[in-house]
Amino acid sequence: MQVGLMNNPRVDPVDEIEFFATHGFDFVDLTLEFPSGHISVIDQEAIIAKISESGLGVIGHTTYYLPFASPISGIRNAAISDVIETLDLFQRAGAQLVTVHPDPGIGAIDQQTILALNAMSFKVISDEARKRDLTIMVENVPGMFSSPEALREIFNKVPELRFHLDVGHAFVGRDRFRHLLAAFRDRLVHIHLSDNRMREDDHMPLGAGNIKWEEVIPSIKSTGYDATFTLEVFSADRRYVLASREKLAELWST
Ligand SMILES: [Zn+2]
Repeated sequence: MQVGLMNNPRVDPVDEIEFFATHGFDFVDLTLEFPSGHISVIDQEAIIAKISESGLGVIGHTTYYLPFASPISGIRNAAISDVIETLDLFQRAGAQLVTVHPDPGIGAIDQQTILALNAMSFKVISDEARKRDLTIMVENVPGMFSSPEALREIFNKVPELRFHLDVGHAFVGRDRFRHLLAAFRDRLVHIHLSDNRMREDDHMPLGAGNIKWEEVIPSIKSTGYDATFTLEVFSADRRYVLASREKLAELWST
């Protein structure tokens, strides 16, 4: 098991990487989002230098609100380009995996079209990623894309995509955790962990919300998954993320 953290896109990623390295994390889940982490505003060389000095591994993470399913091709293409623009940096930083988030689209467009447009966008991104030895993974997000059925449509259309399981997201609104884990274990390559009260995506420390981690962590372990976990705990006081890591390690070892 490797445990990492995601940089807060509101601050310079270089400062975040410093904290992760000095506190013994294994990797940075490098999210390139506005306001302070977007590819257009960061100091790429400083980030690369900091990562190589820190010895941290890297997982790529892209903006979660891109309109991949817009019916307007110019808007869709801009979303695709925004991700493709990040791929060289992710490759240079040592990443092998990059997350994208499916777009629920807008109400006027029917669900099959939304699914097809997401798949088309991810196919273009995945082809570009593969040229750089990167693999694109799709994260489950609350709403339409917490459903295994919707995600399966995308995976069927673009089989080379892998699955990134966000456990917090899987519990927003209703419990889809077990379904998602069972449905996509064969393509599962990365996991995000955060707690919530099962209504909103609260990003609480593990144990502070309603998710039964005593059941969740062993059920992940029982599948044989033993790769990367990102603690997506967004408390300003870092002691909560450090405590979450302790809880994860404890549950993993029992
Ligand atoms: Zn996540």
